[in-house]
Amino acid sequence: MSKNLNAQTADPADAAALDFDAIVVGAGFAGIRTLYELRELGLRVRVVESGSDVGGTWFWNRYPGARTDSESWVYAFRFSTEVLNEWSWSERYPTQPEVHRYLSYVTEKFDLRKDMQFNTQLVAATFDEDSETWLATTDAGETYRTRFLLTGLGHQSHPYRPPFPNLDSFQGKWYQSARWPHEPVDFTGKRVAVIGTGASGVQIIPLVAQQAEHVIVFQRTPNWVIPSGNHSLGEEDWTEIRSNYDAIWEKVFNQPYALPFNAANRKPSDVTPEEQEKILEHAYKQGGFRYLFEAFDDVQGDEESNRATSGFLRKKIHEIVRDPATAELLSPQYPLLAKRPPLGHSYYETFNRDNVTLVDVSRNPLVDATRNGLRTADTEYEVDVIIFATGFDAVTGSYRSIDLIGRGGVHLLDKWREGPRTNLGAMVDDFPNLFLVGGPHVPFANIPVVIDREVRWIGRTIARMLEQEQRFIEPTTEATDKWTSLIPELLDGTLLVRGAAVNSWFLGANIPGKPVGALSYHGGAGNYFAALDQEFDDGLPGFVRR
Ligand code: NAP
Repeated sequence: MSKNLNAQTADPADAAALDFDAIVVGAGFAGIRTLYELRELGLRVRVVESGSDVGGTWFWNRYPGARTDSESWVYAFRFSTEVLNEWSWSERYPTQPEVHRYLSYVTEKFDLRKDMQFNTQLVAATFDEDSETWLATTDAGETYRTRFLLTGLGHQSHPYRPPFPNLDSFQGKWYQSARWPHEPVDFTGKRVAVIGTGASGVQIIPLVAQQAEHVIVFQRTPNWVIPSGNHSLGEEDWTEIRSNYDAIWEKVFNQPYALPFNAANRKPSDVTPEEQEKILEHAYKQGGFRYLFEAFDDVQGDEESNRATSGFLRKKIHEIVRDPATAELLSPQYPLLAKRPPLGHSYYETFNRDNVTLVDVSRNPLVDATRNGLRTADTEYEVDVIIFATGFDAVTGSYRSIDLIGRGGVHLLDKWREGPRTNLGAMVDDFPNLFLVGGPHVPFANIPVVIDREVRWIGRTIARMLEQEQRFIEPTTEATDKWTSLIPELLDGTLLVRGAAVNSWFLGANIPGKPVGALSYHGGAGNYFAALDQEFDDGLPGFVRR
C-alpha cells in the first residue's frame, strides 16, 4: 500500500505536492537495493540513472577482463533468500557481463524497472526549508519534489584521466577503462599503450596482450598483485555453498572486509620459517584475498605479518618474471594494502611475452599525447591505441555530478572541501532527509554487503519515522563531528596510512589537489554494522527527528 507522505500531516507548509516520497540516484547495487527497501515500506520511489540500463559500475566498466575481486557467492544481494537460491554464479570471480546479467535479473524479478528513469542525470537538488522537501532537477530540465533523497553514486564513478593537452591531436584511438564502448574493440595488429596498473589495468593487460601486436605498459607505481585462483563453479560447489550459507554470511558480517574468511589465529613469529613458507604457499595457492587474511593475522596493522606476506609475493614475482630487471620494477616497495591490491589473472606471466614491454614512468613521467602516441620529456612512444586505466576521483568525486544544496544554501562539496563529514557514513548535517548509500565513511570492504546493511538501517530508520509521523531527520553536529573525527583515527592504526605516499585513491592521494585523508571507515565492517545497530537500538540519539 502506498504511503503518501503528504497525507501524514495537516501542516500547511506541506501544501507543496510531492512528486515522489523518495528519489534514489543511481541504479547500481546501491540503487537497486535501496529501491527494493523503500518499496517494501510502501513509498513512491523514482530511481534516476544516467546510464541507459541498470548496473552502475557494472554498466560502465566493460573493459576486457573486467570481473569481481570478491568471491561471487558473497558479492551478492543478501536480502532475498530466493535470489540466493535461484542465482548460481558460474565462476569464483564473475565477469562484468555476468554481474550485469545478475543485476538485470534482480531488477526484473522484483519488477523494479518500472520505477527507474534511465539516460537521466540528476544535476542538482536543493533542500527547501519551508516545506522540508528536496527539489531535484534533471539534465532534461525536469524538477521533482521529494521528501527523501538517497544517493547510490558508487565509490568509483567519476573517472580520472591525466590532462594531456594534445590528446585531440592523437591520430589513433583512445579508450578509458571506465567508459568502455559497448561494442567489442579489436586490438589485432595494433600497438597498444596501457597507462595504469591498478585493478583495472591489471585486468586489461593480459587480455589485450593476447590480441595486440605489441603492448607497452606504462607503470608509475607497481601494485602487489595477488593471483586470483579463479575457477568455475558447478552444481556440487553450489550445493555446498547453499548448505553453508548461514555460516558463510556470519563470517562475512564479522570479517573486517566483509569477506567470508577465517581468521588465521597466528602471526609469522608463532611458527618456524619452514612452516611460514608452507602456510604462505598454501594461502597463495588458494588465491584471492584469502592470501591476505588466512595465512597470518593483521596484515593491515602488523609490520611483521605484512613483511612476511609481501616478502613471499616478491619472491613469487621474481620466480615468475624471467627478466630480473622487469621483475624488480614490478615489485612494490611499500607495505601490502597501502594500495588496494588487485587480483591477477596471469598478470605477472604476461610480462614474459615478447610483445609486452614495461616502461617505468615513475621518474620520467608521461607528459602528453602526440599525433603518433605518447611522450615523456625525452622520448616518444608510437602506438595505435591508448588505454587510460588511470582510475577515479573516488568516493567523494562521485558527488561532483550533482550540486547538492542543503540548509542555508550550503553546497555539499563546499562543506566537504577539506574532506567528507558524515554521521555513520549515512547522513550529513545541514542536509536533512538526504541519505548517502555506500558513500564516504562506510567500510572499505566488500561493497554489496556494506550497502545491504546500510540500506537495511536506512529502511528501519525511515520506517520508524513513518510510525512516529515524522518527516524530518538530520544528524546532529556533535554526532557528525564525532564520527568524522573517528575516521582518521582508525586509519592511523593501520599500515594503510602509508597509501598517502603511493597515490592511493582511498586517501584521495591519486587526484592532484585533492585533500589527502581517509575517505572510508577502516575500523572493520563488523564494527560498522554494530555501530549502525547500536544507534538504532538506542533510539537514534545522533539524529534530530520531528
Ligand atoms: P587505480 O587503482 O587508481 O589505478 C590507476 C592507475 O593509473 C595507477 O597505476 C596510477 O599510477 C596510474 N596513473 C594515473 N595517472 C597516471 C599518469 N599520469 N601517468 C601514469 N600512470 C598514471 O584505478 P583502477 O585501476 O581503476 O582501480 C580503482 C579501484 O576501483 C580499485 O582499487 C578497486 O577498488 C576498484 N576496481 C575494482 C575492480 C575489481 O574488483 N575487480 C576492478 C577495477 C577497479 P599511480 O599508482 O602511480 O598513481
